[in-house]
Amino acid sequence: MENPHIMQSAVAPPPLPATLVFAPIVRRVPDKPLVLVVDDDMIMREMLQIALEDEGFRVTTTGDGAEGLRCFGQVQPDIVVTDANMPVMDGFALCEALRARSASQYVPILMLTAAQDTDSITAAFTCGATDFATKPLQENLIGHRLRYLLQGSRNLSELARSESRLANAQRIGRIGNWDLNISEDAVSSSAEACRILGAQPVHSPRTWIEYLRFIYQDDRAQVARWMAEMIRTGQPTSLEHRVVRQDGSLRYVFVQAEIATDDDGKATHVSGTIQDISDRKEASERIAYLAMYDALTGLPNRRLCTERLDTILARASRRGGTVAVMIVGLDGFKRVNEARGHSTGDALLVEVSGRLKDNLRQGDEIAYTSSGKSSLDAVARLGGDTFAITLTDLGPGENAAAAATRVQALLSGPCVIDGESLHVTASVGIAVFPVDGSSGPELLTNAESAMHAAKLERRNGIRFFTAEMNAGAARKLAMANELRSAIDTEQLSLHYQPQVDLASGRIVGAEALIRWTHPVRGPISPADFIPLAEELGLILRLGEWALRTACTTARSWQRAGMPPVRVGVNVSPSQFREPDFPRMIERVLVETGLDARCLDLEFTEGVMIGDPEAAIETMRVLRRMGVQLAIDDFGTGYSSLSYLRLFPVQRLKIDQSFVRTLDADEQSTAIVETVVMLGRALKLNVIAEGVETHAHATRLRALGCDEVQGYLVSRALPEGEFRAKLESDWRLAH
Ligand code: C2E
Ligand code: MG
Ligand code: MG
Repeated sequence: MENPHIMQSAVAPPPLPATLVFAPIVRRVPDKPLVLVVDDDMIMREMLQIALEDEGFRVTTTGDGAEGLRCFGQVQPDIVVTDANMPVMDGFALCEALRARSASQYVPILMLTAAQDTDSITAAFTCGATDFATKPLQENLIGHRLRYLLQGSRNLSELARSESRLANAQRIGRIGNWDLNISEDAVSSSAEACRILGAQPVHSPRTWIEYLRFIYQDDRAQVARWMAEMIRTGQPTSLEHRVVRQDGSLRYVFVQAEIATDDDGKATHVSGTIQDISDRKEASERIAYLAMYDALTGLPNRRLCTERLDTILARASRRGGTVAVMIVGLDGFKRVNEARGHSTGDALLVEVSGRLKDNLRQGDEIAYTSSGKSSLDAVARLGGDTFAITLTDLGPGENAAAAATRVQALLSGPCVIDGESLHVTASVGIAVFPVDGSSGPELLTNAESAMHAAKLERRNGIRFFTAEMNAGAARKLAMANELRSAIDTEQLSLHYQPQVDLASGRIVGAEALIRWTHPVRGPISPADFIPLAEELGLILRLGEWALRTACTTARSWQRAGMPPVRVGVNVSPSQFREPDFPRMIERVLVETGLDARCLDLEFTEGVMIGDPEAAIETMRVLRRMGVQLAIDDFGTGYSSLSYLRLFPVQRLKIDQSFVRTLDADEQSTAIVETVVMLGRALKLNVIAEGVETHAHATRLRALGCDEVQGYLVSRALPEGEFRAKLESDWRLAH
């Protein structure tokens, strides 16, 4: 310690080990404020120390500004009393240095100056001193003076803390605030407001005109009017507008403001908040977009299409014009989607919509009127593989048909997706306003019916709507409602058709076949309502019901002492693909008490479409449970000879279409022969369905088929009749 001032100091801290010099541990006694006295005059220091300690302060003294600065860091006093003039570092320099540090920014500093030295007094305040006192000091008052300064400083730090809390809250909430002093045209903005405007605080707007410069050009006049109106009326208001940040980006903001008035009610200030709502705005715009547009293709969706169509129809009906709605459905899209995956399906839809859109821009490529101008108003995606095109100002009906042909030609070129070339055809249905419907929804529905009719006839067909199509659609709708209630009102039952072993002639199994007896319309074929149940999503309930009923029945036969025949239950592909399917089977087996080996699940090759590996895995799970598996309608599918090897199934059911034409048709005979051979090679049981004649049965036996099922043995029978048949079959054998 070479510094003479410190040596002279009465309370100079004892020398500390070098490592501790910059980190002294100072115990703070909260109720005794610590004063750092800096004065080169030792007598003054001592006098001050005595006076202040008498007043209840603790005191540390040093004899020079530089030492005072170092000592401040060590002891962290609550207040500093410094002489103005000192030899090495004077009080002004000390004051400046302390104010430059954040730790001592708000510590009160009392500067001691010579009386009447106004220059020093001015300099003291310029350097950041809080107050001054002139020498000679009135020692009896100095304590009061310091306490007063301390109080002021506490208020200041509290204010600083609360300002920083507010700034934090603004930053977190992304709300800034600003103020406009009307008469002075002075704008002040919080840090967050500056951030929202994209301005560095130094470039923040100082006047209203400067503020307006941050506002997006197109919104400026509106904001200026808004402010003028608010000042005129004195009413608080809010507004949404855009701002352009310094980096050129556009943000949406929401401002709220109110007027402050003076005692005479005159508007003096406008204070407001500003909030960045760009993200919210973007999200709500996206939601609004998705409500109207198809996310995949960017085309208008059904809702927007219907709205636009209604507008077009209103115009057409005023002018007596004709409007045609064309529904374009891609043929076999579902198959592409299932066989090649959804991403290929999506890419195909994007390609198709692109072709429609591009040609829309050129307008008359797709449609033109006799006047030669484009008549094509809109293309939309209604969902799945269905698109709608609206043609206005049509002359005779041929134009719509010609347009439909052009659409088909447009889509017929190969679509190359992931290097693979896909050929698309489209079926088109057309409904014309006002003949086929008077509203947008009605025309769309009717054109869709026409498209479905076109699809049923052949691929790549075109059909105009006819009234009969509506009747068909209405029938289907009524049936859908009835099917829902049929499940609840026990109009459904299971019939059982025997399956007979060709070698022994014994009944070895029964296929459970669902029956719907409609209270008015009588029996309805499962061939008619199973596809509908699939379409309506009712198949899961229906399938579980059939399974539970069949298992319960088979178990009751066993309980009655019958031989344990297996019971075949049909499973539709969508049921099979349900992730819960094996668990559902297990549950039903446990609940009904049927041995898993007595259950034979029949599914078609259709279950393989899309994800054959997943299908095989499901089969393996079922096999592990002991359940038997059969491929129904074998030979009609298009997939899977290569996969067949991998299927853990026990049985192939030759489709009845081949059995029926056995010997009459060469191809059928060859297929039956091949299936039997295949079954043998793979050690599978082979059963022929739809066996109606002895000739067929004899031929099948000769070919090596194991079992038969068909009218030759019996039709599917109600449960009681089947049980009687089983009983007599059993008795005959014993
Ligand atoms: P499937 O599984 O191939 O059933 C065989 C169909 O052929 C049954 O028609 C049966 O009555 C019929 N049949 C049996 N023997 C002969 C015959 O010698 N000659 C002729 N001409 N037909 C015969 P059904 O009962 O009308 O069932 C039709 C289809 O409905 C079934 O074909 C099956 O795919 C489906 N199905 C029936 N019940 C259910 C069920 O509970 N769930 C599911 N998912 N589908 C079912
Ligand atoms: Mg079947
Ligand atoms: Mg079958």
